[in-house]
Amino acid sequence: MVFERVAELESERVANVLRDDIMLGHREPGSRLIERDIAAELNVSRLPVREAIKVLVSEGIVVARPRTWAVVREFSIRDLQDFAEVRQAMETLAFVLATKRLDDAGIERLEELVRAEDAAAAAGDAVGARIASSTFHMTAVMLAGNAMLTELAESLITRLRWLFGQHEELRVMAGEHREIVDAMKAGDVEKLQQLIPTHLARGHDAAERRLLARQKGAD
Ligand SMILES: [Zn+2]
Repeated sequence: MVFERVAELESERVANVLRDDIMLGHREPGSRLIERDIAAELNVSRLPVREAIKVLVSEGIVVARPRTWAVVREFSIRDLQDFAEVRQAMETLAFVLATKRLDDAGIERLEELVRAEDAAAAAGDAVGARIASSTFHMTAVMLAGNAMLTELAESLITRLRWLFGQHEELRVMAGEHREIVDAMKAGDVEKLQQLIPTHLARGHDAAERRLLARQKGAD
């Protein structure tokens, strides 16, 4: 039992390291993840590496290959479009439900995040702004108070983090979040149903532009 527990923690640690490497671009899309090499690099046995790769496959950022290796997923334009469609439905629902169930603590939490995001964006702290931004979206999902919706969003969290890493126009994003919070406070569901899809499209457009630029660079 003790050994199993250690193996579990180790595979979590390996998954965290690989996930961060992928998110930060240290391991590029299309690059190989070879069990033996990663085990040597991180000074662990192959079993936790195998487990970690399985986790990343289930999170959608690694693609399994036969036998003992895998590759960092290369998102296609089609993948992004599929994701945009699902997000639009999921997040519009989340923001509408959150608005219906909003209390003072929820408003305070959202406003705090927007302030932090705007301050980070103004100071040129892109990482800070992107983290506040993705936390803002996840907080809205929590405030929707629907366990199934939370579960669905959590299954997409790694892909969401990846997407937020592609954001440009950080102050514009913060400004739009401000507008969204104002509509929520006013209980204006109709306005949210217009604001959310437009806002999400801006983030997806930025990711699409970056993807196309990378593909061009690779030619
Ligand atoms: Zn946003």
